[in-house]
Amino acid sequence: MNMITNHMPTAELQRLDAAHHFHPFTDKAGLAAKGARVITRGEGVWLTDSEGHRIIDGMAGLWCVNIGYGRKELAQVAARQMEELAYYNTFFQTTHVPAIALAAEIAKLAPGNLNHVFFAGSGSEANDTNIRLVRRYWDVMGKPWRKTIIARWNGYHGSTMGGGSLGGMKPIHAHGGKIDGIEHIDQPYWWGEGGDMSEEEFGLARAQELEKKILEVGPDNVAAFIGEPVQGAGGVIIPPATYWPEIQRICDKYGILLIADEVITGFGRTGNWFGSQTFGIRPHIMTIAKGLSSGYAPIGGSIVCDEVADVVGGAGEFFHGYTYSGHPVACAVALENLRIMQDEKIVEHVRDVAHPYLKERWEALTDHPMVGEAKLVGLMGSIALTPNKAKRAKFASEAGTVGYKTRERCFANNLIMRHVGDRMIIAPPLVIKPEEIDVLIERARKSLDEAYRIVRDEGLWAEA
Ligand SMILES: *Cc1c(COP(=O)(O)O)cnc(C)c1O
Repeated sequence: MNMITNHMPTAELQRLDAAHHFHPFTDKAGLAAKGARVITRGEGVWLTDSEGHRIIDGMAGLWCVNIGYGRKELAQVAARQMEELAYYNTFFQTTHVPAIALAAEIAKLAPGNLNHVFFAGSGSEANDTNIRLVRRYWDVMGKPWRKTIIARWNGYHGSTMGGGSLGGMKPIHAHGGKIDGIEHIDQPYWWGEGGDMSEEEFGLARAQELEKKILEVGPDNVAAFIGEPVQGAGGVIIPPATYWPEIQRICDKYGILLIADEVITGFGRTGNWFGSQTFGIRPHIMTIAKGLSSGYAPIGGSIVCDEVADVVGGAGEFFHGYTYSGHPVACAVALENLRIMQDEKIVEHVRDVAHPYLKERWEALTDHPMVGEAKLVGLMGSIALTPNKAKRAKFASEAGTVGYKTRERCFANNLIMRHVGDRMIIAPPLVIKPEEIDVLIERARKSLDEAYRIVRDEGLWAEA
């Protein structure tokens, strides 16, 4: 197909990209040799690249474009806000209407007494805010020794020094180190680490690691626990049903602040407004970003409960903030996104239409010889690739080899589906329609078939 393009040939764009654009989470030299895929347009759940391919985006960008691409209302709101008041800060006793309106709207949507929003520019920044908030809280409470924050191995909380340290990804810690006072416990990943335990037993056992860690650190030294309701970047690890109630019980017992990192699970992803509602978590603080603006503008924040806000807010100035905390354009865009989410009943669409439809087709992928489990919560799904389903075996090849080959086939088949090690994951835009789910599943199955043949042909079909 000949496309009329208004930009340079792809090869020239790739050359310039390799020369000057230092990509995040990318092997720079490796990408330079290969050339990046150039995305040029987005419409609904569809992307177009510079070669004219129509790609179905099974990842909603980076888990964020929840209302889909190309919504003109958001562009119009941004233009209007830029004309009226492009920027003003929220430091030094000033405010503006977009920040006021968005904070009030978030407080309305958030459960319980989560009524106060501290704005940041991203999820990573918001988690850095959380570190300072919880430590400051305990300072004001007269317990400055309560500094330790407990998180999980293979959790993801962003890539700043604070966010990367809260996260439990060793390759991230290896690049630049880790800040002090953060401890990690094991993740509730039953399929990969559950051994002979039932899912229920394993969920409890992994939650009880929190209690062990609290006792090891000393209950009076622990400030907070942070976790994603469902681990996203770690491979869409949907915890056993027993996990979160036990975590909640332990946090309550020791009076530890609970932070739910809802950067992915917030704003409808799990079929409720927040993942905490899906899993019965009562956090003191929620981290938000991504779906807050559906990725149309960079914005994140911390939704803080009355008690923490009163304590930290009632003790003089909190020496913390970002130039772009509550950026008016980002706030206006996020507010319009939340209006559309509500007017078009997108959370209900996830719960009543898209989730049930995708669940049936996604779980049916377990009939594929290479698929060991296929799980879905709301519109967050994962597949474990395995050479032996009964034993939940890992491949003998280095972790991620088979996953990468599968992702390559997805790429070739114009489906964006990510791999995390040898798990395949999806998180499509929340507006995905049943007929688009059919396309996603058809391309996923084709890619799995092709990858399976390649794995067999290359002698990789072997158990660890
Ligand atoms: C993406 C993500 C973050 C970091 O958000 P950024 O906007 O990339 O800084 C934090 N926590 C979770 C759970 C995420 O998925």
